Amino acid sequence: MLDLDAPLSSLVPRAGDGTSKNANPAKWLSHLGLETGRDLLWHLPRKYQDRGDLTPIRELVVGEDVSILAQVQDVGKAQPLQRKTGWRTVVTLSDGRDRITATFFMANPHQFGPLLGKYPVGSLVLATGRAGKFRETWQLDKPVFEPLEEGEDAEALAEKPIPLYPATRDCPNFVVRASVATLLDALAVDGQGSGVEEFLPPDVAAAEGLLPPLAALEAVHRPRDRAHLARGQDRLRFEEAFVLQTALALRRASTATQTAVPRVPSPDGIAAAFDERLPFPLTGAQRRVGEEVAAELARPHPMQRLLQGDVGSGKTLVALRAMLAVVDGGGQAALLAPTEVLAAQHLRSITGALGDLAAGGFLGGDPRGTRVVLLTGSMGAAARRESLLAAASGEAGIVVGTHALLQEGVQFADLGLVVVDEQHRFGVEQRDVLRRKGTETGRGVPHLLAMTATPIPRTVAMTLFGDLETSVLDELPPGRADVQTVVVPQDKPAWVDRTWQRIAEEAALGRQAYVVCARIDADDDDLADGAEEPDDEEPPPPPAKGSGGGRPAPRPAAAVSQVVEVVRAHPATAALRTEVLHGRLLPAEKEDVMGRFAAGELDVVVATTVVEVGVDVPNASVMVVVDADRFGISQLHQLRGRIGRGGLPGTCLLLSGTSPDSRAGRRLKALARTRDGFELARLDLAERREGDVLGAAQSGERSSLQLLGVLQHADVIERARSRARTLVEVDPGLARHPGLAAAVASRVTGDTAAFLGRT
Ligand code: ADP
Ligand code: MG
Repeated sequence: MLDLDAPLSSLVPRAGDGTSKNANPAKWLSHLGLETGRDLLWHLPRKYQDRGDLTPIRELVVGEDVSILAQVQDVGKAQPLQRKTGWRTVVTLSDGRDRITATFFMANPHQFGPLLGKYPVGSLVLATGRAGKFRETWQLDKPVFEPLEEGEDAEALAEKPIPLYPATRDCPNFVVRASVATLLDALAVDGQGSGVEEFLPPDVAAAEGLLPPLAALEAVHRPRDRAHLARGQDRLRFEEAFVLQTALALRRASTATQTAVPRVPSPDGIAAAFDERLPFPLTGAQRRVGEEVAAELARPHPMQRLLQGDVGSGKTLVALRAMLAVVDGGGQAALLAPTEVLAAQHLRSITGALGDLAAGGFLGGDPRGTRVVLLTGSMGAAARRESLLAAASGEAGIVVGTHALLQEGVQFADLGLVVVDEQHRFGVEQRDVLRRKGTETGRGVPHLLAMTATPIPRTVAMTLFGDLETSVLDELPPGRADVQTVVVPQDKPAWVDRTWQRIAEEAALGRQAYVVCARIDADDDDLADGAEEPDDEEPPPPPAKGSGGGRPAPRPAAAVSQVVEVVRAHPATAALRTEVLHGRLLPAEKEDVMGRFAAGELDVVVATTVVEVGVDVPNASVMVVVDADRFGISQLHQLRGRIGRGGLPGTCLLLSGTSPDSRAGRRLKALARTRDGFELARLDLAERREGDVLGAAQSGERSSLQLLGVLQHADVIERARSRARTLVEVDPGLARHPGLAAAVASRVTGDTAAFLGRT
């Protein structure tokens, strides 16, 4: 039997292939990181080319490794090299419009015959090499040709898509093709029991109408036609989705068997007291989600819930009510925030909302009350000690903090609930560190409520947070004022003047403004505090003649330090009280500026994206984003969410130096058009590359996703998830599905694996 885990050197033996007598495919394949038969079989083509379509040569990119399909237009005569060290010949290929030349070198002129005889003028050739250009002529550096004829009738051949593997010069396409073919032929002889057995449950495979695994691999590596290829891809794609969803379902099932302390609020406890004094009614969505959460907190198993909601939908209030229910039930709650600014603000707004309920029952406050403390890395030793003590003794019912909460010395008397704000900034590992602090006291696993900053499409949530149940706050509190968003061309001084005047007008009405910049200081190379690099530079303008030929450097983004000077000097805004806020200030300085801004003692803060998430000053009515084209959609949506909160109509001015038709320009237009966070999230994700969608902080999972796209293949993910959940319900240990268990173990990496390894 063929052992697919054997090294490739034993599976794809050396073979004369025409180009090089001593071709050693295993060695070449190792340049691609492929060591075993299994590696090779799952090294899938990057794309396919139809024989009818030649590669447009003008679309090549200089310096890139490429495989192109072109026609042989001319095979030059062998010419001796200048120092008589050998011979060369130039082959010219064409796509019918442009030409590219490939130069071959040999020790003597007779060697060209065997090499190039297979490629007469007029034939098609698949050529791999590095694209280059010399005086307007395209060149293929270190070319390798491979034949396309396979001894079949022309009609069948014309239908066959040509698989193109990720190209490199170290391992040409044909080496991969030939080696895969060797393996597939051997497996076909070997039949089933070959190491590519079916591991999907038979009923699932049948219901999905899937090809068996070996047939699917055959179809993606050697497709007969496009339909055959599609069937192969369908199978492998489903497999990817199913393995991942099974891992997530296992994770979910394993927490369902863990025990947690049920937390039920008492009718005369702090939760009820808080609800009584809420200054506004809950939105319908807050009420509904609140009930879902309360019901889960009352169960003897840990809640695992993701709370999604658009900016300003009132997630914090849902979280606070959950925390109070736990306090009522005798436990403590920890709120984990990604930044110090946000943690400090949470502390302020929670103590503000609780009023004398936060004074700690015995300090003359409401006897039903509790204590709320802060724990961050920048606190002084004394304050920190006090918070640690309050957490460990159980005196603090609510502990708000940053990553500092995760540290060793932090202990709780009875941690009943972990709330993670802006969940995407933390990994699974981090939220579990905090939950373990509850488990240490022997009282079961704390409940978990994770919150997202901005909405994410359902299938992305299912893929990233598939082990969590999702609640959606799909309703904004009433009285949300309109926010008008305008894109302001940064190069029109009159428009920019008008921008500063708008700030002054609002300030005259007693309102406040944020001005957001992409950098802190003019001499910083990096964009500050998490501003995103522009990801879609337009083709640069041709270099000016005589400028040395270099690309003009893109205009640097305006910095906080520069813009604050502009605001302080501009006639419209000079009289306003303006301060700066950014990540390089001392924590106490940040706290001071935010505090004064919140108290209305400042008119304008010029800031970096430290104000991006969560900052809540209802009196702020204007936001100006300088160089808005440097920010991503979600980020701008978050920023804009800082205004229009207090029932005051808001104005968001996006200063942009980019053309309205560029990609960045279109992003800004979309923002001006809609405030629907779900729609913007879809747009944002559709613009990104797949890897980035799953890549951000969250996921090793993506390494196991070759064919599956979380946006394009939403239907596959949905089906895989429901089938995986059904299966895991019946067979929670996968005892009856050892093949699937092995696939999960070997393919799921990263956070999910880390978790599964522990439970
Ligand atoms: P986000 O979901 O973006 O975190 P917040 O929790 O910060 O939103 O809430 C935004 C603002 O809305 C806060 O000022 C909060 O006090 C207010 N708010 C929350 N719920 C309601 C409600 N039901 N009615 C009126 N205002 C509310
Ligand atoms: Mg928030």
